[in-house]
Amino acid sequence: PDNPSDGPVAVITGASSGIGAATARALAANGYRLALLARRTDRLEQLAVELGGDAVAIAADVTDRGAVVAAAERVRQKLGAADVLVNNAGVMLLGPFDSSQREEQRRMVEVNLLGAMTATEVFLDQLRTGSGGDLVNISSVAGRTARAGNAAYAATKWGMNGWSEALRQELQPAVRVTVIEPGAVATELTDHITDPTAKQASEQFYEQLAISAEDVAGVIAFAVTRPRRMTLNEILLRPTGQP
Ligand code: NDP
Repeated sequence: PDNPSDGPVAVITGASSGIGAATARALAANGYRLALLARRTDRLEQLAVELGGDAVAIAADVTDRGAVVAAAERVRQKLGAADVLVNNAGVMLLGPFDSSQREEQRRMVEVNLLGAMTATEVFLDQLRTGSGGDLVNISSVAGRTARAGNAAYAATKWGMNGWSEALRQELQPAVRVTVIEPGAVATELTDHITDPTAKQASEQFYEQLAISAEDVAGVIAFAVTRPRRMTLNEILLRPTGQP
């Protein structure tokens, strides 16, 4: 951070709900100062108030590079250079792979994969400033296993894993790269599925065994607070009982 007497600065994309919001709370509890990015500013502002003085809510759609650049400037001004970037913004629009799902497929690539790439290239200078940065990419079990009905979503998460492994080698030791691969987590993720059959199947599956966003947030906070001589490269976690 620019002011070394203050805590490190963490930027979270998709901080308005689910894993992103829980991670903001977990990192704040560990002394981090938070920049909360997403589109729903009412949610972000509420969370910023809850976290207290040092948290900043910033409207930014990760598919809009101009908005991400403006957000990075605001972070530098308000908090100083970012020490941690959590690429968490994502959508899971499950459904059969056909033309009826074309919009959903493209949106997942735009948000989950290209959005993470944009946020990373924009914030990279900040992560490289200071005593050492952390890049945390929220992938998924779907980044290591593919199933019928999740082709495009799996493509974005497999893509994120390959991209992250290359970045791990390229950016270390200045920036540590950690990939988090959660199984089912109870959040708003399934709300946005447009295919009725896929939505119903997902909701049923999640009702049976999802863990909480706080469970995942605790793992993320643990990873970034390890001594800098070590990196947790990849963390795969599932609700106990998930196939
Ligand atoms: P939520 O739907 O609760 O959260 C998704 C977040 O992404 C929201 O804050 C949303 O904010 C944000 N977001 C969506 N589109 C954009 C965009 N274009 N620009 C900026 N922010 C955006 O779901 P989760 O917390 O579950 O999802 C978070 C991440 O975790 C995702 O990458 C997901 O793939 C991953 N994941 C989730 C699992 C689960 O079972 N829940 C399992 C494995 C991985 P807003 O709408 O305000 O912009």
